[in-house]
Amino acid sequence: MRPEPNKILVVDDDRISRQFITEILKSDYRIILASDADKAMERAIKHQPDLILLDIVMPRVDGFELFKTIKKHPLIMHIPIIFLTALTLESEEEAGLAMGAVDYITKPLRAPIVQARVKNHIQLINQRKQLELLAVQDPLTGIPNRRRFDVALDAEWRRCKRDQSPLSLAMIDVDNFKAYNDSYGHAAGDSALRAIAHALSSCVRRAPDICARFGGEEFALILPDTTAESLATISENCRHAVEALEIRHAGNALSDRITVSVGGATTIPSDEIGPDDLLKRSDEMLYIAKQQGRNKVSVTV
Ligand code: GH3
Ligand code: MG
Ligand code: MG
Repeated sequence: MRPEPNKILVVDDDRISRQFITEILKSDYRIILASDADKAMERAIKHQPDLILLDIVMPRVDGFELFKTIKKHPLIMHIPIIFLTALTLESEEEAGLAMGAVDYITKPLRAPIVQARVKNHIQLINQRKQLELLAVQDPLTGIPNRRRFDVALDAEWRRCKRDQSPLSLAMIDVDNFKAYNDSYGHAAGDSALRAIAHALSSCVRRAPDICARFGGEEFALILPDTTAESLATISENCRHAVEALEIRHAGNALSDRITVSVGGATTIPSDEIGPDDLLKRSDEMLYIAKQQGRNKVSVTV
């Protein structure tokens, strides 16, 4: 599958410039155009470009002013900006870079210079994105890691408290997994964890839901705006999805394949309790599922 091309927003009041830049960059990037500051703000927020090329000399709101507005807006303040301008004064270049622009390209624009500078910055941007992704991704399974889980749980706790909406959590632990490693080897264990992560992830489909590797052979689901009834259904789907993988596990207690136990809890967040209490209750429910013989779901409100 081809990766999505990087998006570049070009802000320039001059139609010829916009056309020229589009022509020389469109085979490598997705180009979004804006001819004034208002359109630039609207399109930057909507499309979340990776890079903005910003003309300085524009009627009404000029590039410097628009730069400041972009850098104050929480949804787009992180986007790197390259200034484009006919101004050749060194003081202007200095001012632009001092404001925090990542680069400066002078007009008349020359295709190889624009292409090379844009390419360099896009490479840096993609490297940074990759690092940011690695920091929140579990390397073995590719799903969100514990760090991402903690951050998301905190955020969803606050949001559900504000909306007075139910927040559900599920803890999922692989049954008798030590015995699996002992019988089939650690590499097979790793493969099984990958398959389980994939199966569990496909049971949660709504945008704010998160299926994370909580640690070792334990996974966790964050399910915002989810009632106890839905939690019970999703938990059962998870249990079934792993069983349906049919990964042979002769040493499992009640089954001849790999199974999981699921414990879950739901609450409407308040000031009296915190996310840790919800985690603790889910863990207690997981313990009960294990006690009941494993390959079981146990949820509570
Ligand atoms: P229970 O049903 O009570 O959960 O039993 P269990 O054997 O699954 O529980 P226990 O906590 O005793 O063992 C967990 C095992 O999971 C031991 C550990 O080697 C294995 N494990 C944890 N992380 C990994 C991993 O990244 N790869 C592999 N292959 N095994 C792992
Ligand atoms: Mg465990
Ligand atoms: Mg286990």
